[in-house]
Amino acid sequence: MRIHALTKWLHLGLQKLGYKQFNLYYFDTLKVYVEDLQTKIEEIAISAKRNFRYYDEYFVGISLDETSTENDIYQILEIFAKAKSKAFDKNDFKSLGENLQSDFPQELIRKSTYLQHEVFNSYHTEHEMLRYLKRQENKDISMVHSMIPLGSCTMKLNATAEMVPVTWPELASIHPFAPISQAKGYQEMIKHLSEMLCEVTGFDAVSLQPNSGAQGEYAGLMVIRAFHQNNNEANRNIILIPSSAHGTNPASAIMAGMKVVVTRCDENGNVDINDIREKSELYSKDLAGLMVTYPSTHGVFEDNIQDICAIIHKNGGQVYMDGANMNAQVALTSPANIGADVCHLNLHKTFCIPHGGGGPGMGPIGVKKHLAPFLPGHPIVKTGGEKAIKAISAAPYGSASILAISYAYISMMGAEGLELSTSYAILNANYIKIQLENAYPILYSGPNGTCAHEFIIDCRSFKEFGIEVEDIAKRLMDFGYHAPTVSFPVPGTMMIEPTESESKRELDIFCSAMLCIREEIKEIETGIYEKTNNVLKNAPHTAETVIADVWDRPYSREKAAFPLDFVKKAKVWPTVSRVDNAYGDRNLVCSCEPISSYQEAEV
Ligand SMILES: *Cc1c(COP(=O)(O)O)cnc(C)c1O
Repeated sequence: MRIHALTKWLHLGLQKLGYKQFNLYYFDTLKVYVEDLQTKIEEIAISAKRNFRYYDEYFVGISLDETSTENDIYQILEIFAKAKSKAFDKNDFKSLGENLQSDFPQELIRKSTYLQHEVFNSYHTEHEMLRYLKRQENKDISMVHSMIPLGSCTMKLNATAEMVPVTWPELASIHPFAPISQAKGYQEMIKHLSEMLCEVTGFDAVSLQPNSGAQGEYAGLMVIRAFHQNNNEANRNIILIPSSAHGTNPASAIMAGMKVVVTRCDENGNVDINDIREKSELYSKDLAGLMVTYPSTHGVFEDNIQDICAIIHKNGGQVYMDGANMNAQVALTSPANIGADVCHLNLHKTFCIPHGGGGPGMGPIGVKKHLAPFLPGHPIVKTGGEKAIKAISAAPYGSASILAISYAYISMMGAEGLELSTSYAILNANYIKIQLENAYPILYSGPNGTCAHEFIIDCRSFKEFGIEVEDIAKRLMDFGYHAPTVSFPVPGTMMIEPTESESKRELDIFCSAMLCIREEIKEIETGIYEKTNNVLKNAPHTAETVIADVWDRPYSREKAAFPLDFVKKAKVWPTVSRVDNAYGDRNLVCSCEPISSYQEAEV
């Protein structure tokens, strides 16, 4: 109400100064008709260190928010008074701000109750609130507890030194549409980061607009589409996608208005080059391109990737490389090197922006010269090329403030550091692979028996003893680990990616947990425990179950909660026992207020 009251006060003040205001109903935003005074108002406003929105030649837009004060109202009115060369006296406007009633139309005023749940009505002091938030945080296993070996997602160190600048007001307090002249630092960072990313990808231009990998895919495909249209080949709308691709690939392709043709993988998990050749030739007239992940989603560098790209080009298509696996490439090879035309980079994976839980990401795309003219434009801040596609997100440089994290990472690492980092990422994955390969079948390897920065263990053979890949994932919680990626890209498997951030000691501890679990599976194989009642099937074990007076499991409490010595030193207690996976996802039950309490609010 305060925001609306201030806005109404401003509206009345502007009216008194002789300005028309065009928003009949408003909450916090006014559209002021200023005749030919737009430039003059802008000049006065700039010298008073204020930015308004200037649009449609005769209008100035003003929005207030919860940080606006009475003083702001007076200062804004003073600017508008000066523009009309009128003297300004606060006292003339004071009474306008008294006893204001909202004048929304009645039907827009909410009459139902809201935020009735006790969680919104229980914590009234800062201490209570702080403790509530901390309790929520304590339920998570995160990077502050242990490594998260989440294949394809690259959960690496988010160094404090990289994170600190995000809190600086110079970065945090600038509006995305602030005049370029007021954001010189940003411009410089954006320019340098773009150059760095060009060097990393081997490409010629970069767009920092996409906010996620998936949005990068969409932007990249729209750029490919615009390229074909510009060549009078708007018919090129078929995109080949290997069956091993990340789910976002086909989804983005459909959004970009393309038709998806899925290609096969061979028994080694590599994309089947013969199938790609056949389908490229079959559809060559309408081929838009190929989306390919390299190294593959199976964690191997495919030898024939350059040939694959050449086949697509020969048939008139463009190659989109999904760059989620850049952590295996940076400074060693590049998308340009393999022959791709465009790729996205997950700055929230390879380039250290923290993610998980849906945190803000950045998925810039890099392109070769011939695609640069089509990079996304923006209606307010100039970005992109001469034939730019329309903006693909609201802000010109996406979530610009977090770019500082990747900028700091690349700057501090330098070329040598990045190369070392990639080498360690690959070395660490191969180290774990070798530690585990006698215990777990490894699904795919490259020709020399190695993997890239991640690899897949096959858990399907344990089904015979009633053990599913989920059981291993849940059991890892008892050890204080977040499970690796489960059942992507192959159902019934686990994809492990340690990244370069973990020490050999950490890798050894993780391996010891995995090997211990393998022994526990053996205990089921050899009949020591039943298929349906064992430490894996019952995992994870909460403190409540382990400490309860009644314990009727066939194994000890210690085995349940402290399977290895290292767990005792830093036990993370799972807060709930197993929730039935997919069934739970598809059958939402509100565990909070009884459903009946929502009934009234709905009508
Ligand atoms: C993470 C990922 C994406 C999508 O990135 P988002 O930022 O989550 O949209 C696409 N492809 C692959 C292979 C990925 O791992």
